Amino acid sequence: MNRGFLRLDDPVTAIRGIGEAKALLLQRLGIATAEDLVYFFPRRYEDRRQVVTIQDLAPGGPPQAFRARVVSIEQRVARSNRRMQITRVCLSDGKNVAWALWFNRWNLSRILREGMELALYGSLEPRRPVPELLNPEFEILDGSDPRSVGRIVPVYSATAGLNEKWLRRVIDTVLETLAPTIADILPPPIVEKFHFIDAASAVRQMHQPTDEALFRAARQRLVFEEFFLLQVGLALRHRRGCLEKKAPALAGQADLTRKFLAELPFELTDDQRRVAQEIADDMRRSVPMNRLLQGDVGSGKTVVAVMALLQALDSGVQAAMMAPTAVLAQQHALTLNRWLAPLGVEVGLLPGGVAPAEKKKIHEQLSDGTLRVVVGTHALIQEAVSFKRLGLIVIDEQHRFGVLQRKALNSKAGAEAPHTLVMTATPIPRTLALSVYGDLAVSTIRQLPSGRQPIKSVWIGDNRLPKMLRFLEGEMAAGRQIYWVCPLIEESENFDAAPLESRFEKLRREFPNRRLAMLHGRMGEKEKNAVMTEFSAGRIDLLASTTVIEVGVDVPNATVMVVENAERFGLSQLHQLRGRVGRGPAKSWCILYADPKNPEAEHRLDQFCSLSDGFAIAEADMQLRGPGEFCGVRQHGLTDFRVADLIRDGAVMEVARQEAFALIAQGDPYESFPLLMQAVLSRYGRMLDIARTA
Ligand code: ADP
Ligand code: MG
Repeated sequence: MNRGFLRLDDPVTAIRGIGEAKALLLQRLGIATAEDLVYFFPRRYEDRRQVVTIQDLAPGGPPQAFRARVVSIEQRVARSNRRMQITRVCLSDGKNVAWALWFNRWNLSRILREGMELALYGSLEPRRPVPELLNPEFEILDGSDPRSVGRIVPVYSATAGLNEKWLRRVIDTVLETLAPTIADILPPPIVEKFHFIDAASAVRQMHQPTDEALFRAARQRLVFEEFFLLQVGLALRHRRGCLEKKAPALAGQADLTRKFLAELPFELTDDQRRVAQEIADDMRRSVPMNRLLQGDVGSGKTVVAVMALLQALDSGVQAAMMAPTAVLAQQHALTLNRWLAPLGVEVGLLPGGVAPAEKKKIHEQLSDGTLRVVVGTHALIQEAVSFKRLGLIVIDEQHRFGVLQRKALNSKAGAEAPHTLVMTATPIPRTLALSVYGDLAVSTIRQLPSGRQPIKSVWIGDNRLPKMLRFLEGEMAAGRQIYWVCPLIEESENFDAAPLESRFEKLRREFPNRRLAMLHGRMGEKEKNAVMTEFSAGRIDLLASTTVIEVGVDVPNATVMVVENAERFGLSQLHQLRGRVGRGPAKSWCILYADPKNPEAEHRLDQFCSLSDGFAIAEADMQLRGPGEFCGVRQHGLTDFRVADLIRDGAVMEVARQEAFALIAQGDPYESFPLLMQAVLSRYGRMLDIARTA
């Protein structure tokens, strides 16, 4: 290999000293190219700027950097363990001596020579008769300046087979060759505006910080750059969404909407009114709406969605509503029917466990336009459903981020793009929303309908089980209904309902006079629907279930949610479950029946019981689990940053977003900033589906 010609996009095997074996190990660290190495930043740093003398080393103290010469080397087999070999080296700095011991470093006697000068980093063992260091890090100084002492030293995440020292050396050399070739992709006006340091220096500072201020400037630039790339990608997608296809402008007379509101048994909250207005305004335009409606569980998003559906119908187009589970789709169909049947609007349900003949009929009616509203699961996009003229798609409980599904549904509307309303009850911390939903407008309902009582949340252990069972009996005697949720056993291959089934049997023996039923994902659609219908109608007192009832289910007479093994659930998921109760005027309870194994788990349960606001819970959840795990966004790769941290750097994301959207609104970025656009496309082109369309 010719080092002079190494390029950023070369595979690591083009680097001297890296063969196939090392390349495989690097792959484990996510490193495939020279560029990956350059951007493989340290996990932490060690300040070894101060180089001391042997005399300054304190037994049992922190590791320190010093220089010394090799006086003698001896190697022997350990007395206690014949397989252990000890290398003992006597070191001197001219004034004092110390001994360094290494274990099982067979090659040391070949590498080290008497008289060699070393840079060392380590600490003296406490309570030894002579000054001794165990396995100190060392570097041979053959006349050159030391790399491992006298400066701030990067510490990389190593992996088995690749040690720190090796990584440091390789990255050092690659950086020397390639840093000058790192291009400045940020538009010059932005660099000037924020006084950013140049890209090459920033990358160097990250690996080899020289001082704190410069290091901070470096990090700042790189964080901005990462967020900016993402936001430019999102801005491009947003712009294309606006330009590519027109949506039908839904500005018909609001006849159905007016009738609906007149019949509604409650007053809309101010927040509901406000977000409904935002949505209505969007839908009146021929730019496709892309709006996220977020509101805590029970905040009344469904009514708002129905108003949007009616606006579509009032303007003569069809509307579809998609739910993540069949149970929820079924329930929405019931709710919509209850509200829309009096207005003379029929609601179709797909697939809803319907017979093939009926399914075929619904398909026909959708394509000839006689059926104007359909509710369904993902089957709506997977199946060969075609619409006469689809004007609005509502996607409920989309906290699992179905960006791709949204796209598939969009293609249902042919030459036109439908308006899209995405609803979620897992409020997303703002920074995360800006990255994952960055091309969506966001409406938020913060207020719950009045008359709601706060849900009382407690957590209990086994010792209070009998007391809880007596309490449940009392609630059922008063005519209330109960959910009892058991977690799935994830390890088992086919999901194992055993914990649920055995709990169900115990509950049946406990409450022989009550009507109990069970619900889990392995039941057929028909069976599930039958159980939900019975529960909604109040003909079941206690429903033992897996998390299939996690989202959306709305039975106002249910007042107690028991979550068994609550320690296994994330905070947001618990909050979703809790949201199944407290939907009516009666006092409601969420009881976490848990067996926390450690103080942290206990703390989490306490935290959950003390928080009632979904936004606060989402923040706490994201901090506990990290943004990647938080509601499964990691699969998108949108939040995999090299330097930036979504939690720490939230404020930068806002700025990057403003700058990116302003830039894209300005003209042809491909012409003005080709390097930037190339970087955006190579990082996000496929993920965001924004390959160049000019
Ligand atoms: P979510 O936002 O969790 O989807 P829903 O739309 O299911 O909440 O609404 C929860 C319950 O509150 C439903 O029974 C609904 O009819 C009721 N509801 C919605 N808006 C209001 C309101 N403004 N006043 C009283 N009850 C309301
Ligand atoms: Mg809902």
